[in-house]
Amino acid sequence: MNIQMVDMRKQYDEIRSRLEPKVLEVLSSGYYVGGPELKAFEEKAASYIGVKHAIGCANGTDALQISMMAIGIEPGDEIITTPFTFIATAETIRILGAKSVFVDIEADTYNIDPAKIEAAITKKTKAIIPVHLYGQAADMDKINAIAKKHNLIVIEDNAQGFGAKYKNKMLGSLSDIATVSFYPAKNLGAAGDGGLMLTDCDDLAIKVRMIANHGQNERYKHQVVGVNSRLDAIQAVILNIKLDYLDGWNKKRRDAASRYKANLKNIAVIPFEHTDNYHIYHQFSIQVVGRDELQKFLTENKIPSAVHYPIPLHLQHAFKDLGQGIGSFPISEKVADGIISLPMHPHLAHDEIDFISNKINEFYK
Ligand SMILES: *Cc1c(COP(=O)(O)O)cnc(C)c1O
Repeated sequence: MNIQMVDMRKQYDEIRSRLEPKVLEVLSSGYYVGGPELKAFEEKAASYIGVKHAIGCANGTDALQISMMAIGIEPGDEIITTPFTFIATAETIRILGAKSVFVDIEADTYNIDPAKIEAAITKKTKAIIPVHLYGQAADMDKINAIAKKHNLIVIEDNAQGFGAKYKNKMLGSLSDIATVSFYPAKNLGAAGDGGLMLTDCDDLAIKVRMIANHGQNERYKHQVVGVNSRLDAIQAVILNIKLDYLDGWNKKRRDAASRYKANLKNIAVIPFEHTDNYHIYHQFSIQVVGRDELQKFLTENKIPSAVHYPIPLHLQHAFKDLGQGIGSFPISEKVADGIISLPMHPHLAHDEIDFISNKINEFYK
């Protein structure tokens, strides 16, 4: 058995007959930046999510930074987000000179706890960035209601939930602007880096497109200081084809998750899926006692695993100046101590899931 955390080769084998001719076509077309393939993918992605505009960029981190630039985030502004996420969410806040104000997570969904947001709002608060962690929606109705009451902008960090739903609506369509990552290991992955911004707002769409293109709306007429962040034509054509498979792949992830859950329910805290949500299991992460020992045991048995994330952001050295030590966000800290992600991808076989589950059982016997 050759179990992969994410099996890029099996995915490629499934689609190579469609992919290869299109990639070669792009190579011979001469359109490597912008052009018809990018436009086609942006239109398809916008219609898939159900928003008016989708704007490609170089990666999910840039998507966050550009979105924040477009809503006018300035030094000194405060942005509320979760400490239990990938660094990019808060890194980009800091790069713009703004301050990330962390709010602890819910113990069951691992997403930002709406009940704790209002206490974190100050006069400087400009936005809330919920992250749909592991592919499950944050509680968007509650978050949007708070934002409306306090006149705040909401940016969904949807790097992990492309194709997931909240109350039957697509994630990425539930806020002022949403960001997506097409890093290869994400649910919809490019053959390299890629990112996307999604919005219904015409004005924001114009702004993010301009900022991603050096702040110009016409060539060499720079309205604002921007960045250089592009989704290449080759990535666009690959994503365009893969998008046709995404719903099927996400369904297979859900099937794999069900099998894992049935196997592991008595020995670990298995992922909780809220009834409002259609979770797409970007990660299948369980909480266990003795996580580091289990991880070592799995490695010895050639089972890959990962920890998303071992250190909540408020305890990262990079954010030590926020002055929030151990105990500041107890739920995030507790989850970080016990969480472990198991292999999860659409091509994971039943016997692989059973093998992994049996080994975990064996460890705890
Ligand atoms: C992957 C990820 C990002 C960043 O995406 P990149 O494309 O790697 O820059 C941002 N936020 C979250 C929650 C992520 O998982």
